[in-house]
Amino acid sequence: MSSVRLNGTRRILRQGAALLDAWLPTRCALCAARGAHGFCAACRRLLPWILIGCEVCGAELPAPGVCGGCQAQQPQYDHAIIPFKYREPIAAHIQMLKYHKQLRHASSLATMLCMRVWKSMHPLPELLIPIPLHRKRLRHRGFNQSLEIARRVGKELGVKVSHASLERIKNTAPQTGLGKAQRERNVQGAFHAPRRLSHTHVALLDDVVTSGSTVNAAARALKKAGVQTVSVWAAARA
Ligand SMILES: [Zn+2]
Ligand SMILES: [Zn+2]
Repeated sequence: MSSVRLNGTRRILRQGAALLDAWLPTRCALCAARGAHGFCAACRRLLPWILIGCEVCGAELPAPGVCGGCQAQQPQYDHAIIPFKYREPIAAHIQMLKYHKQLRHASSLATMLCMRVWKSMHPLPELLIPIPLHRKRLRHRGFNQSLEIARRVGKELGVKVSHASLERIKNTAPQTGLGKAQRERNVQGAFHAPRRLSHTHVALLDDVVTSGSTVNAAARALKKAGVQTVSVWAAARA
């Protein structure tokens, strides 16, 4: 082979590798180590894991069981799987996904969420439904971060993703800075399932769960549409 052709081949291979790198999330999201899916083993140890979560809402607990809040009032959803506390570096990754459309963070968060789902031994849902944005918010942001995570999780676990099964009919004010009661009022009646759902078990997917008011209102709408069991899957809990 002539050296010109050899150089050309090398260049194509290099470009191919760069393209593959861009397509496959094979670098650690924290230290960029190669070959890591989501985060490398060393960085995984540094992440703000929820080690023991409430069996219903996923809030961190010192010992396995159901938290006081869920004992006092059972949420509309039945079970939550949330791997992380909303702390750094996860909080920054969620913000970079949400406000700067850095989709690689959707991939790394999805990988970690899938690991938690497998580890939970909980039955997989028939459908994965991302928390919808109101059409005005969607137009402004251009994409739904929860749908981006859901697509990747659905692909990895082989669960169908539906973004048409639930609508956000109220353009609610941002929940930031509101107390629990205000948050509940704010999202009351915010969601609507446009048609009956024949699924027994679905999972709602959100990026961050704070007071749980949003996922609660969404779960209420899904149960009204005929779903029996609603799981909540999220990347982090504030
Ligand atoms: Zn790393
Ligand atoms: Zn709880």
